[in-house]
Amino acid sequence: MLCGLHFWAEASLDLFFLRTLPDIDTLLEPLERALAEVLIPSITKRNCSQTERDLLQLPVRLGRLGFINPVENAGSEYKASVSVTAPLVNQIVAQAHEPADEADVNELRRRMRREKEEVLRRKCDNLKRSLPEKMQRVVELGGENGSSNRLSVIPLKEMSFDLNKREFRDAIRLRYDWPIPDTQSVCVCGVRFTVDHAMICKRGGFIIQRHNELRDLEAELLKMVCYDVEVEPGLQPVTGEELNRGANQSHDARLDVHARGFWERQRSAYFDIRVCHPHADSYKDLTLKQLYKQQENEKKRKYASRILEVEQGTFTPLVFSTTGGMGEECARYHARLGELLATKKGEIHSTTVSWIRAKVAFALLRGALLCLRGSRGNRKIATNIHETDFEIERGLAGLS
Ligand SMILES: [Zn+2]
Repeated sequence: MLCGLHFWAEASLDLFFLRTLPDIDTLLEPLERALAEVLIPSITKRNCSQTERDLLQLPVRLGRLGFINPVENAGSEYKASVSVTAPLVNQIVAQAHEPADEADVNELRRRMRREKEEVLRRKCDNLKRSLPEKMQRVVELGGENGSSNRLSVIPLKEMSFDLNKREFRDAIRLRYDWPIPDTQSVCVCGVRFTVDHAMICKRGGFIIQRHNELRDLEAELLKMVCYDVEVEPGLQPVTGEELNRGANQSHDARLDVHARGFWERQRSAYFDIRVCHPHADSYKDLTLKQLYKQQENEKKRKYASRILEVEQGTFTPLVFSTTGGMGEECARYHARLGELLATKKGEIHSTTVSWIRAKVAFALLRGALLCLRGSRGNRKIATNIHETDFEIERGLAGLS
C-alpha cells in the first residue's frame, strides 16, 4: 500500500497532462474531490479536514505524504513545463536541425525546481503557523531527515522495510498525531492510555526492547567496520581518577556499545543510546535542538570523563527521537559510519548514508509501533549487513 501511495504521489500525478494542457484546474476538481473524499480516507481510514488535506499534499521531504492537489498544482506545473521546453520550441520554430542547448535546458530546470521548492516551503511555513502548538511540533518532527525516510521507502519484506495494513495506518496516525483506534483505554500501569503515554511507559518492557533493537542494529553496523565490537561492555573501575561532578562512578557501570577504530585507528569508542519522546510533557518548553542537546549533555556528564580518563577512549551519545529524528552527535556518528561502510564495501557514500538512515528510521518506527500495540506488533528485524548490496537495495527501495 505504501508503495502505491508513493508511486501515486511522486510519479503518476506528476502527470503529463498537468504539464501539457493550460487552464485545466477547474477540470481537475472532480479528481481532487475523489482524492480527498475517497482515496485518502481509504488509505488513512480518516476523513481529513481541509488543513489536514493541505498538510498531506506537501512533499515527503518536507515531512508530509506528497499527496499533491492537482487543482492547485496544474497552473504552476504547466508554467514550469513551458519554461523548460522553451529552448526546444524555439529550435522547432526556427526549423533548426540541432537540438536545444542542453546547458540552457538544465539551467531552466534547476531554476524551476528552486522556485517550486520555495513555494512549497512557504506553503509549509504558512500552514504550520495556522496550526495549534502541538501540531506545529508534529510538522517539524515530520520534516526531520529520518522521519521522512520512513514513508518514502518502498516496502520490501527482504529488507524489513515492510509494514502490514494496520502498522502502516498506525505509522501515518503517529506521524500526524491523529487518534489511534482500538487501543486500550487504561494502560497496564493504571493511568489513562494515550499515544504519548505509550511512548514513555516503563511497564511491559517495550521501551527497553525499543532501545535494545537500536543498540543491536548499531552494533551490527559497527561490526562491519570496527574491531572488538561489544554490546553492553563493562567499564573498568574508577581508582582515584579525577572525574567531573555527576560522573557515573559505579563499579558495574556498562555502556551500550564498544568498538575499536571508529573515530581514530585502534582507539576505543563507546556509544550509549537514548530514545526520547519529543511530545513528553517534560520537553514541551524546549525546541527540538535544545531537547537533543540536553539529552546528549546529560549522557556526556555521566560518562565522557570516565571514558576519557579511565578507558582512554571516546564517548558519543546517540540520541534518537521516537518520531525518527536524531541529535547532532548521532547524525555525525552516522555520517562517519556511512564513510567507513562505503569505503569498506566499495559503495557510494550517499547511498550508504541513505541506507543506514532508512534502517534506523524503520527500527525507530517499529519501536514506536511496539510501544503502541505491545508484543502483538513485534517482529524481529533481521539485518544481514554482510551480504547487503546498498546500491541494489537503494534502487529497489527507492531511497533518496
Ligand atoms: Zn503505562
